[in-house]
Amino acid sequence: MKQAELVIIGGGPAGLCAAISAAKSGAKVLIIERNKYLGGQLVKQTHMFFGSEKQYASTRGIDIPEILLNELDKHKENVEILTDTTVVGMYEDGVITALHKEDDFFKISAKAVVAATGAFEKSLAFPNNDLPGIYGAGAVQTLMNVHGVKPGNKVLMVGAGNIGLIVSYQLMQAGVEVVAILDAAPKIGGYLVHASKIRRMGVPILTSHTVKEAIGKDFIEKAVICQVDDKFQPIEGT
Ligand SMILES: Cc1cc2nc3c(=O)[nH]c(=O)nc-3n(C[C@H](O)[C@H](O)[C@H](O)COP(=O)(O)OP(=O)(O)OC[C@H]3O[C@@H](n4cnc5c(N)ncnc54)[C@H](O)[C@@H]3O)c2cc1C
Repeated sequence: MKQAELVIIGGGPAGLCAAISAAKSGAKVLIIERNKYLGGQLVKQTHMFFGSEKQYASTRGIDIPEILLNELDKHKENVEILTDTTVVGMYEDGVITALHKEDDFFKISAKAVVAATGAFEKSLAFPNNDLPGIYGAGAVQTLMNVHGVKPGNKVLMVGAGNIGLIVSYQLMQAGVEVVAILDAAPKIGGYLVHASKIRRMGVPILTSHTVKEAIGKDFIEKAVICQVDDKFQPIEGT
């Protein structure tokens, strides 16, 4: 069985930052990442980051892994990295089971473990929200920026925070028509600079609006939208 002092599951920004801190303090770190590459979601984030300067705001997401990996490299004597390896089990006695590629199954005994496996997108609850063609913004970025696949030709974006605004802009860059951006909040949540750019391109941003229902047989064809009141409840007749 492989022995490790600290196992970090997931080589996204959280896992890499944890690895830098631990390796800097002298711990022997083993990073396990299921993808062939490190960086997690950053690999698809072609936009300049919003957020705090400490978290590399204004740098393109795709450029951040290199910065983190250079930092990690300064402590390389304390770091081992296994990519293309998925952690499939974790047991009370500290044993971790992992699968490298498709058939190399092995065990690791770890003194400590950091789980930095990321999150999954929350979907809004509305009738027919499982019709093909309804995506979270992260999935749209994966399709377009990792696989080079256009997710559709005409899009209604729900959410006018920075993610909704940035992904709308990327969709337009890919030749997709964005018919409108909705947000249930009374104000646009994202930066005004992004909202203004999108509005100048002719896309209306409807605040105090939400999606009520999706319509379609085998895939989404239409969406019913409505205005909401200050308690986010649909206003009849709108
Ligand atoms: C469209 C979009 C735009 C965004 N823009 C910004 C922005 O501008 N600024 C900002 O600060 N944030 C932004 N974010 C958020 C940012 O991407 C996330 O906060 C960040 O990626 C989370 O990092 P993480 O390391 O926790 O997770 P992730 O980046 O998801 O990394 C988790 C890693 O764990 C690996 N993993 C999972 N399970 C296993 C397993 N069992 N075994 C081995 N490996 C595993 C995954 O393959 C992945 O590499 C954006 C998010 C989206 C969706």
